[in-house]
Amino acid sequence: MTVPQGKGMSSAAGGRRKRVLVTGGAGYIGSHVVRQLGEQGYEVLVYDNLSTGNDWAVLMGELVVGDLADSDQLRTVMDNFRPDAVIHFAAFIEVGESVRNPLKYFRNNSANALNLLESCRKCGVGALIFSSTAAVYGIPRENPVCEEAPLAPINPYGASKAMTERFLADLAFADDGFRYVSLRYFNVASADPQGRIGQAYRNPTHLITRALKTALGLFPRLEIFGTDYPTPDGTCVRDYIHVEDLAAAHLAALSHLFGGGSSDVFNCGYGQGYSVREVVKAVKEVTGIDFPVVESPRREGDPPVLIAANEKILRGLSWRPLYDDLRLIIQGAWDWEKTYLEKMRN
Ligand code: UDP
Repeated sequence: MTVPQGKGMSSAAGGRRKRVLVTGGAGYIGSHVVRQLGEQGYEVLVYDNLSTGNDWAVLMGELVVGDLADSDQLRTVMDNFRPDAVIHFAAFIEVGESVRNPLKYFRNNSANALNLLESCRKCGVGALIFSSTAAVYGIPRENPVCEEAPLAPINPYGASKAMTERFLADLAFADDGFRYVSLRYFNVASADPQGRIGQAYRNPTHLITRALKTALGLFPRLEIFGTDYPTPDGTCVRDYIHVEDLAAAHLAALSHLFGGGSSDVFNCGYGQGYSVREVVKAVKEVTGIDFPVVESPRREGDPPVLIAANEKILRGLSWRPLYDDLRLIIQGAWDWEKTYLEKMRN
């Protein structure tokens, strides 16, 4: 596949395009990053087992179907592709499921990350971007929460990601030839503005997606999980970030490492929180559909409030949010949900 030539993708030495291996690049966030990498002129190889990803979502570069548990295949792929950097997305992401099945999360999100790091070191890959999460903070003492806050996850999902952050920090400390950036995502939503890719989970659990699918009549009602939290309206508060802005943060982190920047950790959010009730109200306004909503007990593993302090990423990376507007985020997600429904029907 031919990708447009972008700026800043050639190595100083040979002028060849920088190569980036993206694990989980067929998934929701990964596919947006892959598309932006291709648009910027990087050479991209996606390594994905398609357990939750989709081959049609890989719009740029090449897709190799493989599992991180398969060290031999991973090693062969890396030896052949010789990446300059790795971006690591491949992981499970559901808080509730992680509480019910913790070993599944530690196996895939932590143990398989070790496989990847070992392969990186054997193949001489010295730069890695890691898809981490605000769930590493658990219930932060302060909101907005900054990167220096203690890591105290309250569910196995957050713990599995915090563990991988620890692997990265210790490896970078031990090995001068290895640098990384961990990006701690807050709540990611919306879709490619051109409607080519978006969230396509078989069993979506995220609030905005569930609400939109309820508006489309795919679920009979939306449940609000917990109305007795210590928040202004009793429901959980989250910081919703547009997937395009989040994807751009990965490219900014990559430029940081290619430019000789040191290992670091950055929150990815807008610094503003919305309650579940506020999101539901906004979804009803954007869609113009008054779908049924019921109040249900709390979901296990949910912290009451998670809002990003984002001064560090604004200062440390060349990144500026372009889609910082809840209604814009929901509108993009709504456009995508309608497109996706058509796609599934055809
Ligand atoms: N939530 C809800 N109903 C749903 C899905 C989510 O009330 O159908 C709540 C959830 O309990 C949490 C917030 O919405 O308080 C955001 O959850 P989501 O799963 O979207 O993201 P998370 O914060 O778990 O990463």
